[in-house]
Amino acid sequence: MSSRLPGFYRLGIAERRRRLLEVKAVAEGRFASIDPGALPLDIADGMIENVIGEYALPFAVAVNFVIDGEDALVPMAIEEPSVVAAASNAARMARAAGGFTTTASTPVMIGQIQVTHVANVEAGAAALRDAAASLIDDARRLVPRLAERGGGPVGLDVRVLARAGADGGVLVVHLHVDCRDAMGANLVNTLCEALAERVASTAQGRAGLRILTNLTDGRTVTVRCTISDDALDGADVREAIAAASRFAELDPYRAATHNKGIMNGVDAVLVATGQDWRAVEAGAHAYAARSGRYSPLAVWRAVEGGLCGELTLPMAVGTVGGALHNHPAARLALELAGIDHADRLGALAGAAGLATNLAALRALATEGIQRGHMSLHARAVARSAGATGELVEQVAAELAACGDVKPDRAREVLARLQSPLPSVADKENQ
Ligand code: NAD
Repeated sequence: MSSRLPGFYRLGIAERRRRLLEVKAVAEGRFASIDPGALPLDIADGMIENVIGEYALPFAVAVNFVIDGEDALVPMAIEEPSVVAAASNAARMARAAGGFTTTASTPVMIGQIQVTHVANVEAGAAALRDAAASLIDDARRLVPRLAERGGGPVGLDVRVLARAGADGGVLVVHLHVDCRDAMGANLVNTLCEALAERVASTAQGRAGLRILTNLTDGRTVTVRCTISDDALDGADVREAIAAASRFAELDPYRAATHNKGIMNGVDAVLVATGQDWRAVEAGAHAYAARSGRYSPLAVWRAVEGGLCGELTLPMAVGTVGGALHNHPAARLALELAGIDHADRLGALAGAAGLATNLAALRALATEGIQRGHMSLHARAVARSAGATGELVEQVAAELAACGDVKPDRAREVLARLQSPLPSVADKENQ
């Protein structure tokens, strides 16, 4: 299946679906999962509390992606205009040089068990280190199916957090768990709760919190791509993007916005595929600040004839568990992207993030972000002013041309375009 679908953006929704059927992206009938009302209300009612309805988002696919040598359609659910277009454009630029390549760490999540009121933290930590192998064995026995799948608890370490203070001596135990294709929060939390009392008594302290950390630095994905000067429209653009990357490396204020551009792509994929995007967001920003200074998650370097980009971020995602079982759109998203394991999903989200980062930097380094963004925003404003059909494009084009993309102006333009043309008789009477 090729993800290169020229002109896909110009098609209507029904034609886009037909095109995806032609390239055998999914089986006939599967689009019912993203039709309005596809999530049954009783299922929604079982997912969270106090449900009174459902909240819809546009569901799209970004095209042109090649990830680790394979074409991939990238499902995205997002309310912000221009993210899908930006991802698709950047993926087309990367495609010319082979697309995105990725490396995933083993899917190891970390559970924390806090121990407070430890009289002698050094002795407590030493006792826990001595008991580590046996604690891991205990934990492993609690998840036999995960162990059969090649995962399960793989390590345990201890850190001293305080020697004295309001909570006395404080230790934290980190339990490392290979969660295979699960995101793993529930798995890890269950193990931490089960081990907590033994951990506390071994350290001769009191069990405190027992829950995973979202700083999943043991579970990361790295994505790389090369973009040729030709694809970038010249060496000047290459140098400007490399300079924009250095700006983010020097300044946390810029790094925050640089990373927001990355999370535009990452989150859109995570939402579409039913992931806990708050967990990945928390992990990404904690990771970005791990040196003590908030830094960009992706950097770009000028190389001979082009540009190299590299992104690394924690990626706690799952293709089993969580909301996936219940959410028809999330299951369709995984199907569209051809995903059957968590590593590939992490690669897809990471590639989308590096792509949206590149597109934003390219726009900033050339015409500025607003022009492209505004023409898409103009369509949304035109629609909200009541334009339908061909009038959407006409109103949007006028708004974008005059640079005044506001609802009042849109209503004015729409009223003028909708008012009947004066007849010859009217003109003669004037
Ligand atoms: P889960 O509880 O559904 O567990 C996954 C299940 O899948 C396990 O029972 C496992 O045995 C099974 N499984 C089947 N095939 C597997 C495979 N190939 N690899 C691994 N496991 C396999 O889900 P989870 O992933 O443990 O937890 C995810 C949920 O926890 C998310 O909904 C998340 O929102 C939520 N959560 C997050 C946080 C946090 O991030 N701080 C805290 C609490 C809960």
